[in-house]
Amino acid sequence: MTDHRPDVTRRASTGFQTVYGEAPAGRWAAPGRVNLIGEHTDYNDGFVLPFALPLRTVAAAAPQADDTWTVWSELTGETVGFGADEVAAPGRVTGWGAYVAGVVWALREAGHQVPGARLAIASDVPLGAGLSSSAALEAAVLTALVDLGGLSLPTEDQPRLAQRAENHYVGAPTGIMDQSATIRCRAGHALFLDCRSEQVEHVPFDLIRAGLAILVIDSHAPHRHVDGEYAARRAGCERAAALLGVPALRDVPAGELDTALARLPDDETRRLVRHVVTEDQRVLDTVALLRGGRIRHIGGLLTASHASMRDDFAITVPEVDTAVEAALTAGALGARMTGGGFGGCVLALVETADADRVAAAVTSAYAARGLTAPTPRTVTPSTGTTRLN
Ligand code: ADP
Ligand code: MG
Repeated sequence: MTDHRPDVTRRASTGFQTVYGEAPAGRWAAPGRVNLIGEHTDYNDGFVLPFALPLRTVAAAAPQADDTWTVWSELTGETVGFGADEVAAPGRVTGWGAYVAGVVWALREAGHQVPGARLAIASDVPLGAGLSSSAALEAAVLTALVDLGGLSLPTEDQPRLAQRAENHYVGAPTGIMDQSATIRCRAGHALFLDCRSEQVEHVPFDLIRAGLAILVIDSHAPHRHVDGEYAARRAGCERAAALLGVPALRDVPAGELDTALARLPDDETRRLVRHVVTEDQRVLDTVALLRGGRIRHIGGLLTASHASMRDDFAITVPEVDTAVEAALTAGALGARMTGGGFGGCVLALVETADADRVAAAVTSAYAARGLTAPTPRTVTPSTGTTRLN
């Protein structure tokens, strides 16, 4: 589907002008992200490998003399305003404004003199598709406020702060991946993140030079029981780690998997552990291949990750299995569901010349099963938060 609207930066600026009657002082962008591989490994202290999308959220902003914040979003057409009292009490600002108030709260909690501000938000990141529109919103607002206030907050400390906004103010128990990706990713690279140490490495992932593309296909599968299923998997993993006497499943080496499995009481727990341990190893193997410039060779790891999520972790749904199967049949080098599961997006690694054909094959497989048409997008690894001119 072609988007005929003006580009997102212009929409944020025009929105600002319309709502506040003047031009913004500046514009800041933060991208959505997709996780190349490493699913449900984050809360097991393991490894993930996201990259930033060319789809971005833009905040146009200007300072405001008093300690108040006003924010308009193109998406809802609403303007939300709040002062220091509402910011000080997590939960007082609700709805989407909570992501913005949460960022102000987290900055103030960390001792920063946050400037009052007027903001206008526009975004190309689809909401709730698993492409992390929430972290993009937080990061766009965060960099705008850091710049406007001349705050001293190094980039490497920003993801933790945005995560606190989402965990404590919004009340969503997310890991550190989304905020790290939207803030720290680099164009042409994936971000290898150790969720225990929060160490990152920018791993070369230059698809264009390799003649390859990644298709991100939004399955539009209705999310079913996501929160409950997520909590159940997480609790199961924590129980398994306790049974094995390790701080987290990350501490079970892949070479000792069979010994560990033999010590577990039931098949369901064994399947959870097998997914997490093998998935961590697949991230490490993917990173090793990318460091060696062998992008084409990661396809098998992507597909193995999908099988593990489907057969062991049991978090896929027919829509995403259909998309993966159709993409592989049409010649994708590898394909997997990406994100927490029960819907969301599928990614497929394809030769650039095959991208349209693979996308069409997935679309017709959906039509044949009477499913809502998916939305395929060809993406390239893009930059993290940026100040625009
Ligand atoms: P995801 O991060 O996968 O897109 P989440 O449920 O974590 O899904 O976050 C989606 C929520 O983030 C939305 O319901 C909305 O409250 C907020 N949000 C994200 N982007 C915007 C935006 N541009 N304008 C208003 N709210 C937004
Ligand atoms: Mg989110």
